[in-house]
Amino acid sequence: MATIAFIGLGNMGGPMAANLVKAGYKVVASDLVEASRAQAKSAGADIAESAAAAARGAEVVVTMLPAGKHVLAVWNDVVPVMTKGALIIDSSTIDVESARTAHALAVKHGIASIDAPVSGGTGGAKAATLTFMCGGEDGAFAKARPILENMGKKIVHCGGAGAGQAAKICNNMILGISMIAVSEAFALGEKLGLSHQALFDVASTSSGQCWSLTSYCPVPGPVPASPANNDYRPGFATALMLKDLTLSQDAAKASGAATPLGQHAQEIYKAFDAAGNSGVDFSGIIQHVRSLTGKS
Ligand code: NAD
Repeated sequence: MATIAFIGLGNMGGPMAANLVKAGYKVVASDLVEASRAQAKSAGADIAESAAAAARGAEVVVTMLPAGKHVLAVWNDVVPVMTKGALIIDSSTIDVESARTAHALAVKHGIASIDAPVSGGTGGAKAATLTFMCGGEDGAFAKARPILENMGKKIVHCGGAGAGQAAKICNNMILGISMIAVSEAFALGEKLGLSHQALFDVASTSSGQCWSLTSYCPVPGPVPASPANNDYRPGFATALMLKDLTLSQDAAKASGAATPLGQHAQEIYKAFDAAGNSGVDFSGIIQHVRSLTGKS
């Protein structure tokens, strides 16, 4: 089995690396934080002294880092020491421009590369049920697929360099907007004396149906597994939703696309985040929507 270097062992990277160990790969891991390194070690990974040390000699390198600047810094250290023809996969959620810059660096050094951001959250990372959205050359994708299959259950090749990141931010812009739409409908229904269950029963089988309603309902009751039933503990934290909406708006500005609802959703999540709710699940936005009563 191939040796895989895994760099970035946080909430997502830790369990993803553990799943590669379970699949039988030799995993050489690296992170700046001792606690994350210790957890990866207890899951069966070898620990390297640096990202470059982990990557040297590995057939595959996976990075799972906070943002574009971290990915570019790590790829600048790692790509030049990798074996020619090896593969590097970035699964972080980052801006499309940085993803394309990272691909160009890999091309320059004769390394195959894929941007492969994920959806499915920490639960999906642990259960190996993530969705991977991939961008890059056909050959690089073909090499990446069998590796990604050990960490996810749906793997989509979206196009060339950066296409995975583009798909990720477009999807999450839909999610951010639709969660606000569903929250507004419940807040209006409350004012009109409509029960949560009645609105759910109608909208979930009518034209208002969407994932934010049927899988992640922002009021307690209709969908027992949604964070609304657990005091809005994440799930998917508001800070991460705000990050993805900001990436979508930066991309919209850079590409000249009009996304007026995406822009408004970003403003609404920014206000909710700034009011001390960074760690609250993003469906908690219904509390913010209710708090606007009489203000508009
Ligand atoms: P996290 O902050 O828990 O983990 C990031 C890790 O990267 C940390 O352990 C940090 O120490 C490490 N790191 C930073 N710089 C490093 C460097 N130079 N070398 C080695 N390690 C370094 O973040 P996370 O929740 O695991 O998210 C990772 C990425 O996945 C982000 O881009 C995020 O937007 C995306 N994502 C997260 C979720 C989620 O639910 N948490 C879901 C989908 C996508």
